[in-house]
Amino acid sequence: MTGDWQLRRDMVDIGRRLHDKGLVAASDGNLSARTDSNQLLITGSGTHLGELTPDQIVRVTTDGRLVAGSRKPSSEMPLHLAVYRTRPDVQAVVHAHPPITTAFSFAGVSIAQCVIPEVVLTLGTIPTAPYATPGSDEGPFAIAGLIADHDAIILERHGSVTVGKSLKDAYYKLEKVEHAAQVLFHARQLGKVIPLSREELRKIADVRQRLGLGPTEDVWRHCGGP
Ligand SMILES: [Zn+2]
Repeated sequence: MTGDWQLRRDMVDIGRRLHDKGLVAASDGNLSARTDSNQLLITGSGTHLGELTPDQIVRVTTDGRLVAGSRKPSSEMPLHLAVYRTRPDVQAVVHAHPPITTAFSFAGVSIAQCVIPEVVLTLGTIPTAPYATPGSDEGPFAIAGLIADHDAIILERHGSVTVGKSLKDAYYKLEKVEHAAQVLFHARQLGKVIPLSREELRKIADVRQRLGLGPTEDVWRHCGGP
């Protein structure tokens, strides 16, 4: 477990990285982390992640009651709370607006394609949740059927949610998703994108299971395995 002060420092660090890498703009995006006492630290409403300071982070209970802080919690708090309710293993949530990833959802193209071996191995597939009005109570419903089995979800016409055992873990998953989207984007410009064969998928799924990286059922469901 990580103390409150360190979590706040980590959130400041991740916020700056998100902005510097163009994964959020202006006051887009929000971050949260579970504390030692099973409460949550979450970025305040209207904060700019690139210029985040520790005092702009508030503390709430897991049902969203403000415990400490001078700001209102992020308007996307219901989305974060839904993740922690469903996933006791999750310690941190990163919501961002990665441009290439989000562009795929505007074009109605799924990036849950089993094309890049390392992405299938580490993240499984990356599903797209149906559209929900940003900042509304619709967000939790949109991800409800997906978050139990996925650490990275695309929010249609909006952005992404990645979760992990630490803020860095959730952030690195986002980097991986956006990088995969960039690779797919270029591959589609060059010609036909060829998915992995069933045999290669079977071997990747075996390694994924052996290393305890996550469920393999959805890999088969989306990629046409056995
Ligand atoms: Zn957003």
